[in-house]
Amino acid sequence: SLVAAGLFGTGLARSSVAPAAVGKEQREFDYFALALQWPGTICSSTRHCCAVNGCCRSEALHTFTIHGLWPDYDDGTWPSCCRHTSFDMDKLTPLKPALDKYWPSLYCSSSSTCFSGRGPFWAHEVEKHGTCSAPVVHEELQYFTAAIDLYLKYNVTEMLATGDILVSNGKEYALSDVIDTIKHAFGGSPQIICKKGSVEELRLCFTKDLKPRDCLTTSAMYKNLSKSKHCPKKISLPTYDPIVLTNSTLEIVPEASDNGLYFYTS
Ligand code: AMP
Repeated sequence: SLVAAGLFGTGLARSSVAPAAVGKEQREFDYFALALQWPGTICSSTRHCCAVNGCCRSEALHTFTIHGLWPDYDDGTWPSCCRHTSFDMDKLTPLKPALDKYWPSLYCSSSSTCFSGRGPFWAHEVEKHGTCSAPVVHEELQYFTAAIDLYLKYNVTEMLATGDILVSNGKEYALSDVIDTIKHAFGGSPQIICKKGSVEELRLCFTKDLKPRDCLTTSAMYKNLSKSKHCPKKISLPTYDPIVLTNSTLEIVPEASDNGLYFYTS
């Protein structure tokens, strides 16, 4: 892997260098959360399609996709937007196929960025979280490489399948079984976020030297989580019917936009 190949260099061994925060200093983070999204839950709300939206691919996505690699604090809070950067897609050329495949946006609208207004989903994640990931991750390519490496090394979709927890419509699984399956395969407790009883997001947590650890699961986690995102005792991993982007049915609907983007609708 690129991590093993040493892209992290000597950064791992460096002691606390507080990131230069914008506005006020933010202290060094305590651990990483790799946040994964379940497209089946998010894409069932898709009403408009566009080329960047992974929900609009002709084949429904049946695996978790990456949301972001987040530096977090042990008290349930997290630093954000720690340094000025300007997102440069050209630096990510070697990773572009992996980013498209494993880290798609699941929306059409552009995302807010810390310093440059709005931009792609990737710019949002690296500006908000990547800039706070020192002393482990120092720059853009390293941030995305680290996240993709962890995602491929700890394949949650496969871990769940091994426990017979599969994408399904209607079928429900005990939340405790899902957590135990991940604990057993990964070596740490995940955080699971739900929307109306369906898994919306699953987070794996890592020490700063990228070893599995427990995520926060008690009050610290719930402090920042709205009630509607708590999971019930039985949860599902739904699938969805993609709205396919086909040229013959494309139409531009300007009023559907809330941010200056035009949406395609079928
Ligand atoms: P983001 O896409 O990074 O803006 O995150 C989307 C949502 O996830 C935010 O509105 C927060 O509720 C939550 N979130 C963002 N960063 C973190 C974090 N580091 N730890 C826990 N939750 C987070």
